[in-house]
Amino acid sequence: MLDQDATTPSSMSNASRRSFLSMAAVAGVASISPLRMLAQAAPADFRTTSRAAAAKTPIRVTQLAGNIHLLQGYGGNMAVQTGPDGKVLIDSSYMSAAPRILAALDAISKDPAATLINSHWHVDHVDGNQPMHEAGFRILAHSKTRERLMTPQSIALLHVSLPAYPAPAWPVTTFDQSLTLWRNGDQITLAHYAPAHTDTDIYIHFPHANVLHVADIWFNGVYPLIDESSGGNIDGMITASAHALTLADAQTKIIPGHGPLGTRAQLVEYHAMLSTVRDRVAALKKSGLTEAEVVARKPTASLDAKWGKGGMTPDVFTGIVYRTVRV
Ligand SMILES: [Zn+2]
Ligand SMILES: [Zn+2]
Repeated sequence: MLDQDATTPSSMSNASRRSFLSMAAVAGVASISPLRMLAQAAPADFRTTSRAAAAKTPIRVTQLAGNIHLLQGYGGNMAVQTGPDGKVLIDSSYMSAAPRILAALDAISKDPAATLINSHWHVDHVDGNQPMHEAGFRILAHSKTRERLMTPQSIALLHVSLPAYPAPAWPVTTFDQSLTLWRNGDQITLAHYAPAHTDTDIYIHFPHANVLHVADIWFNGVYPLIDESSGGNIDGMITASAHALTLADAQTKIIPGHGPLGTRAQLVEYHAMLSTVRDRVAALKKSGLTEAEVVARKPTASLDAKWGKGGMTPDVFTGIVYRTVRV
């Protein structure tokens, strides 16, 4: 499933390429796909390349509760709640994955399409909005997600520019702070984090089923992407992951935006890692060092063996933290 020749940057060392690929395998190959593009100077067309890969990637389905399933393919992690009120789907991956996603949903239950929730605006979570809309889902998201899908966007870190999406892909119901849905015998709580990974991130919580989708504030097992172009920042990531922890107990099934299904204990470790990196980088920045000087000091060195095996290299992550940390 990994097309190394097409997507592995030639500048990566063999060692980093191996560790990168092994992390991809651990994480379910494609779930960290946007980061695979990170070290490329200028991907010709990120979305086209990603759509081609998504079209070939199977959807893996895992039952998390009686009527909640996790779906993992090439884009961000998805989930669906089923029942007589209709399916409530979280995120839509890439447009080209829609036939596989719809087939997986149909295999889970014959309930009708009802609501698609976007966890945030990023392409790997919303690109399938139009085909899902055409399949009968009505799209719900934070108000800024709608704004961003209606206008051209860029992700500077990934050298990605994206045109506005057409109207069928836009959320038709939006909220600013929080919203509760009552569906299929359960409560679904949605709430906006202060800017963290982007300024559009929300969590989706099923308190009775004890399932929590935290969006891309959590890349389980690796340094995360923080999208500065959309208001993302390290302090917000720490606050958001701390907030998610308040919603979870030892039994909670926590769905990260990317990577394997997680536990509260893993999220605790991730939050501690973010806080440690933040504190180390902030101290160096406060001392007057430039970004290049701080990166050269390797402030994450003691953490890299555990967290540095994803597409987000320690140096790139250190740079993001330096640029976005409040000192
Ligand atoms: Zn994502
Ligand atoms: Zn994202």
